[in-house]
Amino acid sequence: MVVLGTGWAGTAFLKNLDYSLYDVKVISPRNYFTFTPLLPSVTCGTVEPRSIVEPIRKIIGKNKLLFNWFFILLSQKGEEIDYWEADCYKINTVGKKVLCRSKIGTNLDGTGEFVVDYDYLVIAVGAQVNTFNTPGVMEHCHFLKEIEDARRIRRSVIDCFEKASLPYLDEEERKKNLHFVIVGGGPTGVEFAAELHDFVAEDLTKLYPAIQDLVKISVIQSGEHILTMFDQRIAEFAEAKFQRDGIDVRTGYRVVKISDNSITMKCKSTGETSEPYGMAVWSAGVGTRPVIVDVMKQIGQENRRVLTTDEWLRVCGCDGIYAIGDCATISQRKVMEDISAIFKFADKDNSGTLTVKEIQDIFEDLCIRYPQLELYLKSKHMSDIADLIRDAKGGDVEKGSMQLDIDELKIALAHVDSQVKSLPATAQVAAQQGQYLAQCFNSMRDCEEHPTGPLRLRDSGRHRFRPFQYKHFGQFAPLGGEQAAAELPGDWISIGHGSQWLWYSVYASKQVSWRTRVLVISDWLRRFIFGRDTSC
Ligand code: FAD
Ligand code: MG
Ligand code: MG
Ligand code: MG
Ligand code: MG
Repeated sequence: MVVLGTGWAGTAFLKNLDYSLYDVKVISPRNYFTFTPLLPSVTCGTVEPRSIVEPIRKIIGKNKLLFNWFFILLSQKGEEIDYWEADCYKINTVGKKVLCRSKIGTNLDGTGEFVVDYDYLVIAVGAQVNTFNTPGVMEHCHFLKEIEDARRIRRSVIDCFEKASLPYLDEEERKKNLHFVIVGGGPTGVEFAAELHDFVAEDLTKLYPAIQDLVKISVIQSGEHILTMFDQRIAEFAEAKFQRDGIDVRTGYRVVKISDNSITMKCKSTGETSEPYGMAVWSAGVGTRPVIVDVMKQIGQENRRVLTTDEWLRVCGCDGIYAIGDCATISQRKVMEDISAIFKFADKDNSGTLTVKEIQDIFEDLCIRYPQLELYLKSKHMSDIADLIRDAKGGDVEKGSMQLDIDELKIALAHVDSQVKSLPATAQVAAQQGQYLAQCFNSMRDCEEHPTGPLRLRDSGRHRFRPFQYKHFGQFAPLGGEQAAAELPGDWISIGHGSQWLWYSVYASKQVSWRTRVLVISDWLRRFIFGRDTSC
């Protein structure tokens, strides 16, 4: 088994996989896992870079300890995991090989390239930044994706302040150097803007009193609002708070060009404008990595935007390849495509009509296979499929005598597929997919060895191999000034200082190891007592 990537998806997979069952090779250009939600905190020194990374070899090693004191007794099979620090630059889906290139050392032919065969390939390479081919972005903007990016931003912020303090600059030049531009009003851009504002207001103004009034932070967003993936109340609160804080939020502006000292943007109503800036961070959009684009071409997915898998996370159109996290998306089966099969399956007595009871009997299975059904019922404020049928057949039909033929079933379920949604590109999704896939692999051997054994019985069998289902536990948007917005399941919105404390506790508990947990918490304490570190 070859695993590509050691981010959220890859690490969750490796943490949950039973290594005694497979010969696992892990390939990734980074030999550590990064806790990406805290990257914005690293850009301003609230948290130190090393506090949010954990060596992958340690994570793998821990898993061994957890499982193995008894696995070693039971079996002497291959429990070693190999990790190789390299990029996979091509996947041969027919020959089942991955072609890799190491940057840190060369082999005999002087290239650092090597080939690995696989039976199972788990692709978890994530996404890359997308500049939408805007000129100048690659050359002049910072990104915020990796730990090195966060380090560079931190150094650059301080550099801007030092530059603006030099004796030979005029006021205009100082202003330019202290203009921080953030392109993209998504969660990352907003969180970085909030973090930067706090850094300036709480720490830097004390150190640079002469130039503190010249600082300007702008957030440029092409849509009408920032934080569009959040509830509208949160977006509005964030916009109002930023306005109070003096952060300039420009909605409806699209950046068209960036040169080394000015940024050009376009707005429908006012046309093109240019503005000088000191530092720009690009956090607008994600794109597909070249190695994935190439796979998509090989397997006939070239018309799609992202690599597509089925609900068991198997890549459609090839054999033995699984994809999890930001690099892939799930293609959800449609109820209407399978409607005849559903009807046949439900019609246990082959009568050609369905009773409500027959439908209710398969309802639970239907909801697992087609999660959109539950969403649809919820959106209609219905708790039972019988309501849906009654609705389609016209109100006053007696429950017991209700019979449905295929056309009536079609009418009843006609709009269910409108609730099919693709999952967001978040750590939460990636981690759940990694965990799910590992559990599938762990029980695969069992099921092959005991095809009729207890594992295949309805309950356990179904639960082991049920399609991937995402559970949304809510999301946060830290807005600075010790305030955060939280959107929790069940339409719960909470905004303010309390949510910030919730944020602290959730992010502390989500750390991958006790080492990083202790480091992150002590960084927060250090910041409370001494402020952020401005030397770097
Ligand atoms: P990644 O975590 O990006 O991992 C990809 C891995 O693949 C990396 O190890 C990389 O080195 C490796 N790789 C890349 N190319 C290759 C190759 N060619 N061959 C082999 N390996 C390769 N999500 C949330 O849910 N909540 C948040 O608060 C949140 N905040 C975020 C803040 C920031 C600043 C960022 C950038 C993201 C944030 N996210 C958040 C999103 C979250 O980080 C991603 O959704 C998540 O990382 C996706 O996991 P992944 O495993 O698919 O990809
Ligand atoms: Mg990953
Ligand atoms: Mg990661
Ligand atoms: Mg995905
Ligand atoms: Mg029947």
